[in-house]
Amino acid sequence: MMDFLADAKRIEPEIVKTRRTLHQHPELAYHEEATARLVAERLDALGIKVKKGVGGTGVLGTLKGGKKGRVVALRADMDGLPVQEMADVEFRSKVDGAMHACGHDTHVAMLLGAARILAENRDQLHGTIKFLFQPAEEHGGRGGAMPMIEEGVMKDPKVDYVFGLHIDSTRKSGEFGVREGAIMAAPDRFTVKVIGRGGHGSAPHETVDPIYIAAHVILSLQGVSSRMINPIRPFVISVGAVHSGTKENIIPDVATLEGTIRTLDEATRKLAKKKVEEVARGVCKTFGASAEVEFEKDAYPVTVNDPKATEKAVRVLKRLPGMKIKHIEAILGGEDFSRFLQKAPGTFYFLGTDNPAKGCVYPNHSSKFKVDEDVLKYGAASLAMLAYEFGNPKGPA
Ligand SMILES: [Zn+2]
Ligand SMILES: [Zn+2]
Repeated sequence: MMDFLADAKRIEPEIVKTRRTLHQHPELAYHEEATARLVAERLDALGIKVKKGVGGTGVLGTLKGGKKGRVVALRADMDGLPVQEMADVEFRSKVDGAMHACGHDTHVAMLLGAARILAENRDQLHGTIKFLFQPAEEHGGRGGAMPMIEEGVMKDPKVDYVFGLHIDSTRKSGEFGVREGAIMAAPDRFTVKVIGRGGHGSAPHETVDPIYIAAHVILSLQGVSSRMINPIRPFVISVGAVHSGTKENIIPDVATLEGTIRTLDEATRKLAKKKVEEVARGVCKTFGASAEVEFEKDAYPVTVNDPKATEKAVRVLKRLPGMKIKHIEAILGGEDFSRFLQKAPGTFYFLGTDNPAKGCVYPNHSSKFKVDEDVLKYGAASLAMLAYEFGNPKGPA
């Protein structure tokens, strides 16, 4: 039996160093050029077959094991966020206005660590392991997973199982968060354009005031969640941006609302989108305005963990000494790992990094987000174990 945690502990300094290098040089969605170069060089040095420029800046690594078996894919996202870093670390971002505030630097470092562990044990491996380093998870819409899938990363050979890991500030260091079924939401961005007729602020009766009507739309939209969707189905709607007007005594022609809805199943998602559109149009009509309602094309689907694969994965993760497994609630954030899960069964799981003693208390996406680097070896070992166990045609036991 191989001891992947011992291997991960041995290469821990390298995993942390790689993470810090990436952390200092964050790149935003679709611009992960230097990151992709680093990934490709490292994989190449391990004797892993590398394909660059997959779906933009994506990198595909393919490692054949010494024994026959299944095809397992492991994924890391590579992009940073447009955040000015304020974290209390000496390896702070060197790029003005960009930061690895979601911890994708740790994902890349952990997956490169797993790649090294697996490559050094290749004779013992069953089947084929594909390493998916994807761009633009934070972008939304087409993101980075979709273009990589379009370029065939889940085919030839066809992927049997796929796994992805996310670092998580809401979970204690030393914990994995797992869930069977829907684990993350479909994030549907929408725009409502309220088209009225502008004029003088002193004579509103001669106008159709889009700001007044937009206020009604905002309030009424909350009725979709409280009155129109089955309350046992999670659904949330938030309006996060309101744009209109230039001066206090001018009634403008148009007001634009931007918001997001989050759902955990496709039926509720479809119904919610229909109701949002109906309510927005209906309210606008009531007050004499018209509405243009648009939803983002290609929004991420619900991230659905295959129950059987997840159950098996949990059995594998339980063998990692020093880590606890927590069965968690779904999270209403979005993830384009969902797209890989539409092509092959697998699971998306979380690695906790909350550690007040080390000042690791700020949430993902915060300018002060700080990772407990001591957990990275567990993440790397877990990915390697999943690839090894699921690659075995008889496994995982
Ligand atoms: Zn994020
Ligand atoms: Zn993320």
